[in-house]
Amino acid sequence: MKLLIRGVALLGGEIRDIFIEDGRIVEISASSQRVADRVLSGKNRIAIPAFINGHTHAAMTLLRGFADDMPLKEWLEEKIWVRESKLTGEDVYWGTKLACLEMIKSGTTVFNDMYWFWEDSARAVRDMGMRGILSGVFIDMFDLKKAEEQIHANIELYRTAEKYKPYVTFALGPHAVYTVSKRSLQWIREFSEETGAIIHMHLSETEGETAFSKERYGLSPVELLSEEGVLSERFVGAHGCWLTEADAQILSDAKASLVNTPVSNLKLSVGKTLPYRLVLEKGIPFCLGTDGCSSNNNLDMMETMKFAALLAKFGTNDPTFLPAGQALHRASTAAADIFRLGDWRIKEGATADIILLDTSRPEFVPGFDSRSDIVYAANGYSVDAVICLGRVLMENRYVDGEEEIMEATRKVARKLSRR
Ligand SMILES: [Zn+2]
Repeated sequence: MKLLIRGVALLGGEIRDIFIEDGRIVEISASSQRVADRVLSGKNRIAIPAFINGHTHAAMTLLRGFADDMPLKEWLEEKIWVRESKLTGEDVYWGTKLACLEMIKSGTTVFNDMYWFWEDSARAVRDMGMRGILSGVFIDMFDLKKAEEQIHANIELYRTAEKYKPYVTFALGPHAVYTVSKRSLQWIREFSEETGAIIHMHLSETEGETAFSKERYGLSPVELLSEEGVLSERFVGAHGCWLTEADAQILSDAKASLVNTPVSNLKLSVGKTLPYRLVLEKGIPFCLGTDGCSSNNNLDMMETMKFAALLAKFGTNDPTFLPAGQALHRASTAAADIFRLGDWRIKEGATADIILLDTSRPEFVPGFDSRSDIVYAANGYSVDAVICLGRVLMENRYVDGEEEIMEATRKVARKLSRR
């Protein structure tokens, strides 16, 4: 498949042709002479690298609007886990498809997920032509029999993931320190060392999580993971709101990464923000994520960029913190480094995961500073076209089959609520 984007603006303001072949950017020039199978007009469009959603639970679209305005513990234990216990694989397939649709429509081509019915999520990702780093929810509640079952299940998922290449990458998903035993953490460390799989875990999200860890182990969640050898450059911790300075140093020494989820943290009111200044000082790599649709309630990375930038300024009492260009970097190229997705810039030889934003919309007028307009003025609706691995997933804001996906998901969500 050869694709040409004709006459599109880049972030620096220059107008270029971008020629893409076999999922890679082959040529960026003032006027390409190459012949393409498909041509997209870049008129009134700006091309930027696609967004990467660093932490979500895609099929939770099924629970959007189902339980809001509640304390985290009650919300999770009395509402979310109760309804999730009734989920089927088919529900998850459609919930994930809807999530993919929503992510494509707001400019995301890759997401890092943790959810039940792994293979149904994988099918949905493949059918949508997107890319998912998928982990199951590894929970054993300190029960050794459950731990063994989870270990077996994860070995199977790792093998199954082969079938879904290049769309799906397997990751290990230990839920959190308050739901996973040391025995399982040890196995997770070994399996990650053996296979290179990413470890995706909720980390230092709430005060309660920290208190649990201190009481059970006499250690903070980060100290516990460090002691069990779980932290490495393959470790990605979501949230990180309650990190101490000592925790940040440990993460930095281990080259572990974090995902900032500002909207979810604000909505569930976890009491603290990611300690941005500390994270930057220690040089901990971090990217941005939306979290699932029952704690956000959308998957719009453009909205998340704005929240992240605002919360970083508010949290540090410094309006120069996380400027627009940095927020954009955290939502795309920084995440590509964390998830080892290769060169994510708009550059010859790089991966062709590109989105086109519609600069004829009011939020881009008068157009003094593209980065500022993208982060502070625009939102997911400003995305006009999405290219993933060199394939066009959306053009003129239309995704193939979108009406059917929404209708089918409405039906399965209604059935689930009556079960
Ligand atoms: Zn989460």
